[in-house]
Amino acid sequence: MDTYDPHIYEFSAPGKQGVNLPRLDVPEAELPAALLRQDGMNDFPELTEPEVIRHFTRISQRNASPDTCFYPLGSCTVKYNPKLHEEAARYAGFAAAHPLQGDALSQGALRLMYELQQDLGEISGFDAVSLQPAAGAQGEFTGILVFRAYHCHRGDHERTEVLVPDSAHGTNPATAAMTGLKVVEVKSDARGNVDLEDLRSKLSPRIAGMMLTNPNTVGLFEDQIVEICELVHSAGGLMYGDGANFNAILGIAKPGELGFDFMHYNLHKTFTTPHGGGGPGSGAVGCTAALAPFLPGPLVRQGADGRYAFFTPEKSIGRMKAFHGNFGMLVRAWAYIRSMGATGLREVSEVAVLNANYIRARLKDLYPQAVDRICMHETVLKGQIAGAQGVRTLDIAKRLIDYGFHPPTVYFPLIVPEALMIEPTETESKRTLDDFIDTMRTIAREAVEHPDLLHQAPTKAPVRRLDEVRAARQPILRYNAEAFAKLRAERAS
Ligand SMILES: *Cc1c(COP(=O)(O)O)cnc(C)c1O
Repeated sequence: MDTYDPHIYEFSAPGKQGVNLPRLDVPEAELPAALLRQDGMNDFPELTEPEVIRHFTRISQRNASPDTCFYPLGSCTVKYNPKLHEEAARYAGFAAAHPLQGDALSQGALRLMYELQQDLGEISGFDAVSLQPAAGAQGEFTGILVFRAYHCHRGDHERTEVLVPDSAHGTNPATAAMTGLKVVEVKSDARGNVDLEDLRSKLSPRIAGMMLTNPNTVGLFEDQIVEICELVHSAGGLMYGDGANFNAILGIAKPGELGFDFMHYNLHKTFTTPHGGGGPGSGAVGCTAALAPFLPGPLVRQGADGRYAFFTPEKSIGRMKAFHGNFGMLVRAWAYIRSMGATGLREVSEVAVLNANYIRARLKDLYPQAVDRICMHETVLKGQIAGAQGVRTLDIAKRLIDYGFHPPTVYFPLIVPEALMIEPTETESKRTLDDFIDTMRTIAREAVEHPDLLHQAPTKAPVRRLDEVRAARQPILRYNAEAFAKLRAERAS
């Protein structure tokens, strides 16, 4: 049912209160007028403690999250966040550490950062790691700034272009453009990989490098990756690896060995730190020894005496983030890597890939595949159901909400029409996958027999179809009695 619960303001009544202040035991005095607030408090609600608690608890239960449901959002790797990591991040020595307390009083925190740098470098085959960037997108921005600094330092000032495949995530062209370089698109071939002919035609002494996601956003491994890297290098360019899909190759392939020069790790995707609204992100970056002097600092190193200290590389592009990155996320990622171990991380990728292929194999008769190939950790299908009139991917996604699933990514990658990009992750049981598959098959049948069920979906969520553009551009963030009354009347009619 579509319901709008009474807003907390509507419970308000003069004189209600949620705290009992102790009796005044000092002489009463007037506050100086200058300290009195002049505005804004007139319509503050007056409520009891239980009313406030119920309000906030109720709205917190309206979140969809990997703690409450299957969350197969493709490209984003929304996997379960083990609670062990939360405990580690809350240790007082980490949570209460002050970023200015100095190296001598921060040896434990520095050791953790140093070990995380080492571990990420080992897992990816890179010589140096900076934990500064706050997200994958900022890691991309960092990487292209480092490429530019590297070329300029060598007196190579004419490299003004960055190659980006047409399957790329929007952040790739956006971050490259933010550095002032020009984005040149490279086409994909019929197998869903980089079109080598098109790539060759776009190589020139003007390229600073290429940004590539491998496996790519069609969920496919770029099996010509070694040749792609050689081509770009032979034109004097550098290879940026978008590590958002690292979950598919942990312990199996190292980007540094495939030929990449630089990459970001989305700690909030692959390394289980909370995603999206669940916490700040972390987009640590790794690179080859040749690019290490340009990394944003400070980094952590260990001296001959065994003590840890911050240092900034000699030709650093500067800071990307205040203090030391999102430190709480570094603790969680460290805990993840250490609790999984090398064999555990490899198993993560093996099971993630197996799960995606299981879904692909059991749905491809009803939902056409973007490309008929074995996939990596996510599968891209199309919401084009045979015999279903006027049903679109968006309708399928909305109907999944009625069945208690978070929808997959839709309409991305842009090169796949009606894309449904499903990433189950390794933490889901066969039973959950089977429930999801059965539901997708039911929806395909409904699409043919009762398409209105899909067009009207979701009917069981707290709200129906939202105007997503208006919700993003003109959000109503404050209580507005008139707007609420209007919404409720609209829904009731
Ligand atoms: C998520 C994602 C990014 C951006 O990462 P953020 O951490 O969200 O900034 C870049 N590329 C791909 C392929 C992604 O899925």
